[in-house]
Amino acid sequence: MLSNIRVVLVGTSHPGNIGSTARAMKTMGLSTLYLAEPKVEPDGHSIALAAGASDILKHAITVSSVEEAIADCSLVIATSARSRTLDWPMLEPREAGEKLVGSALNGPVAIVFGRENNGLTNEELQRCDYHVAIPANPEYTSLNLAQAVQIICYEARVAHLAQVQNSAEAVIETESEEAQEDFPSSKERENFFEHLENTLFSTNFIVKNHPGQIMTKLRRLFSRTRIERQEMNILRGILTSIDKVVAKSETKDK
Ligand code: SAH
Repeated sequence: MLSNIRVVLVGTSHPGNIGSTARAMKTMGLSTLYLAEPKVEPDGHSIALAAGASDILKHAITVSSVEEAIADCSLVIATSARSRTLDWPMLEPREAGEKLVGSALNGPVAIVFGRENNGLTNEELQRCDYHVAIPANPEYTSLNLAQAVQIICYEARVAHLAQVQNSAEAVIETESEEAQEDFPSSKERENFFEHLENTLFSTNFIVKNHPGQIMTKLRRLFSRTRIERQEMNILRGILTSIDKVVAKSETKDK
């Protein structure tokens, strides 16, 4: 089940951090590493720092964007050293561990880490369901990348052990609730947002040249509600019905 929890490193520039990430993951029982648009490939330095975890490096999957790395994930959590920059739904690291472990019962989930120099872009952050900030010293919040990975993977392990030992009722309840729900994958959500935006263009609710913040606000709304697959399908049906009316009135106008 921990193998369903995917660690995604975005735009990593130090090979050593990739190696240390592999080690952080393996010590906590995680094994699936994605490198999204890495600036460097794993090298000898990575292998040295991975120590006994070089198998994780060997099997790491390199992709060209975060979008690609999370496409099939039903839950995506982004990490950020800056808390609340975007006013997105936030989780404590412990809650993040519980959510990841709970949702991993259904299929792949992802925890996304940013670039050493400037973290994740706003656009990348907005593709994620939740944000997590490790509550560090407010005067210096920026942990080393692999150390941030270690802390989140540790929290996933704590949640996993609680589940295995049946010792934390709360975790188990969250889990079974999550297990019954069917969330769309990241890719399906992106298709939905594209459809929504196109429909709103066609009704002129959003003006193409001046889109403003509407789509960002709608993304945040749907992150907050954690829309289920069936609910999203209803909304897509509604959009399609609007599209048909718009298409009809456009033909009439001609
Ligand atoms: N200067 C960057 C810090 C990047 S640190 C910034 O302003 O965002 C590299 C990555 O480590 C971050 O993108 C995040 O994934 C992780 N990280 C570092 N400190 C963190 C913290 N306090 N909470 C959560 N993630 C953190």
